[in-house]
Amino acid sequence: MSTTTEIETLRNYIGGTWVEAAADSTLEDRDPATGELAAYVPLSGRQDVDQAVRKAREAQPGWRAVPPPDRARAVLDLRDALLSRRDELAAMVTADMGKTLADAAGEVGRGIESVESAAAVPHLLKGDNLEGVARGLDVEMFRQPVGVVAAITPFNFPAMIPLWFLPYAIACGNSFILKPSERDPRPSELIVDVVDGIDSIPDGVVSLVHGGREAVEAILENEGIDAISFVGQATTARLIATRSAESGKRVQALGGAKNSLVVMPDAELEKALPAIMGSAFGAAGQRCLAGSVLVAVGDRARQDEVRDALAAAASNLVTGPGAGPDTDVCPMVAPEARERAEAAIAQSEAEGATVTLDGRLGGGDPGTFLGPTIVETADPEAEIAREEIFGPVLAFVREPDLEAALEFVNGSRYGNSGAIFTSSGRAARDYRYGVEAGMIGVNIGVPAPVAWFPFSGWKDSIDGDLHANGTDAVDFYTRKKVVTSRW
Ligand code: NAD
Repeated sequence: MSTTTEIETLRNYIGGTWVEAAADSTLEDRDPATGELAAYVPLSGRQDVDQAVRKAREAQPGWRAVPPPDRARAVLDLRDALLSRRDELAAMVTADMGKTLADAAGEVGRGIESVESAAAVPHLLKGDNLEGVARGLDVEMFRQPVGVVAAITPFNFPAMIPLWFLPYAIACGNSFILKPSERDPRPSELIVDVVDGIDSIPDGVVSLVHGGREAVEAILENEGIDAISFVGQATTARLIATRSAESGKRVQALGGAKNSLVVMPDAELEKALPAIMGSAFGAAGQRCLAGSVLVAVGDRARQDEVRDALAAAASNLVTGPGAGPDTDVCPMVAPEARERAEAAIAQSEAEGATVTLDGRLGGGDPGTFLGPTIVETADPEAEIAREEIFGPVLAFVREPDLEAALEFVNGSRYGNSGAIFTSSGRAARDYRYGVEAGMIGVNIGVPAPVAWFPFSGWKDSIDGDLHANGTDAVDFYTRKKVVTSRW
């Protein structure tokens, strides 16, 4: 057992140097699988953020002047350096957030993919022009960096989500400040350590400030920050978007989700089941693309075949530590997260829902373990079917046909993702056309777009217009300047 004297307090990274936070209060960062204390996270405040912004502003004009092909080479240096430490980074994700090693490796791979996508920045930054819009008059559009941008990131993808933003932001010529989740900030620390070792990225271009609400407050208030990328719960996203708009900051705020998996009468169940298991229970349901409501349609709704097959498959999943070789369902990030998920199950039971498969096992030693749970509700408006639980809990509802299924799905305030399982091209097309969500799977349980496409949630799953990744990222991190000239 570690003693407090051996446990390090994480440091911020500002102006190319690791520095102690001015704030003296800290939070504990614990391994979700063992409950062991891993680090103290400083709750940085205004003084720390102001210092990071000063250094970022100092560095930005010089960085902007670096030609885009050279900035692209720096991003490629980052890619190579991340590749050389990818296993270490994945192991850190498992130790700090709890997900399985395979999942963590997938996350790191996806993060590196964003870096690769951002390396195309000389192409992506090209402007537009139109010659002779009037006699002797030409118009050109240039893209210029926004300035200093900050990212505020969630716990559930502690490596990938910082890498959704960092490479594009700097490739476009901005300075970048990362405020990672205070619950699992060590993968961010490792990523920034990688940046620290790259000579082609000058000091001050990338900063790391640890902390929670106080740090976010300081970011929102700081006039030296021009844009904010945020990912987290819908309520936090709305707060960040509102406050950013009030102070004139550009903002993209990606929020929560409640994604439905529609199983049609003609779905090939034996192929769909593993995809559904992975979607609902992988990462213990702590993914913004997790399928958390299963909608059985038509005959599949009238009979119990799907529900029973789901319960049988889920009861075979192994709940255990992320580093365990057989683990399917990892621990939840913290005991409080597990308690909240269990409270939602208990509430749905009290409201008349049936717990078909009960994964409540008392949390285990660290209090973070919850096995796969399936809850059938006849009330499509029940909270279990409508609100994000963010745990290994799958709500089960029945609808008579695709039209009714779409009406249910589209009744959600969220629109991040969804999937249909079918062998009918017609049903897939009707679903694709009518579903109000931005990332859609056809016979795919977790339809995460590759980095060359936007991560395109709709409705309350995003506040703002531009998504993470792809050309949206370049639109977000640049300002357009249109020049009309006559010579
Ligand atoms: P969270 O909202 O609790 O925290 C996200 C960030 O906001 C953290 O850095 C945290 O320090 C900060 N924060 C939290 N509350 C704050 C407050 N009141 N004021 C100021 N700052 C605050 O989110 P989380 O629990 O870490 O992450 C899980 C959530 O993220 C889920 O809802 C999930 O669906 C969502 N998510 C969405 C996407 C997407 O693409 N839409 C992707 C991943 C995760």
